[in-house]
Amino acid sequence: MSFRADIITLFPELFPGPLGASVIGRGLEQDLWSLQAHQLRDFATDKHRTVDDTPAGGGPGMVLRPDILAAAIDQVSPEADTRPRLLMSPRGEPLTQELAHEFANEDGLVIVCGRFEGIDQRVIDGRNLREISIGDYVLAGGEIAAMALLESVVRLLPGVLGSAESHADESHENGSLEYPQYTRPALFEGQAIPDVLTSGDHGKVEIWRREQSEELTRTRRPDLWVKRNNQK
Ligand code: SAH
Repeated sequence: MSFRADIITLFPELFPGPLGASVIGRGLEQDLWSLQAHQLRDFATDKHRTVDDTPAGGGPGMVLRPDILAAAIDQVSPEADTRPRLLMSPRGEPLTQELAHEFANEDGLVIVCGRFEGIDQRVIDGRNLREISIGDYVLAGGEIAAMALLESVVRLLPGVLGSAESHADESHENGSLEYPQYTRPALFEGQAIPDVLTSGDHGKVEIWRREQSEELTRTRRPDLWVKRNNQK
């Protein structure tokens, strides 16, 4: 059984969008994973297909109603479904490479995309939605966040990234940033590729890459550097 993603959104037409391109899209065509986007409005019960209402206590904007969203979740993901139920949210746990690996080990994901001011707290609690954030900034909706999350997860699924493309050295895989990469031409605008990379000495290449990776991490992301050294 391959990895199954269900999205609940007011804009299902946005999917697969970028997830239909390149290796992720090829994986979709090859059934290495599957994706279904569900229109939240289909679960509305009035003739205007209303999904939102004004915030209790006052204030600007609109809030997604808990009853409509709960009906959608219950149909898309009945009780026996063991997949994690996520809500994209700027208040959530930060998405990390570690979390992407955790989700890649599941049978799939159910992802709710918010809109407007957000979602009634009672459905977050009642359906045990795990809130996930893609960063400390605010988007207009959860769709792009859901795509970012799914892309980070799907590329880890077996067979999606050819065996030639490995994850092991990449930024964030071991708590550090990747070393600089070079390719032909040997000379570009007067700048040569560092000699060590064309020396053919694999041992030296490895040492150079490790040094570069450590230097980049230490200077650009002191937060990661401290965390990495504390884990050692
Ligand atoms: N009023 C809310 C923000 C609503 S933004 C608050 O202050 O917390 C509308 C929707 O966009 C959210 O429900 C969420 O699904 C999505 N969204 C916005 N920023 C996000 C982020 N950084 N990560 C994940 N989802 C986000």
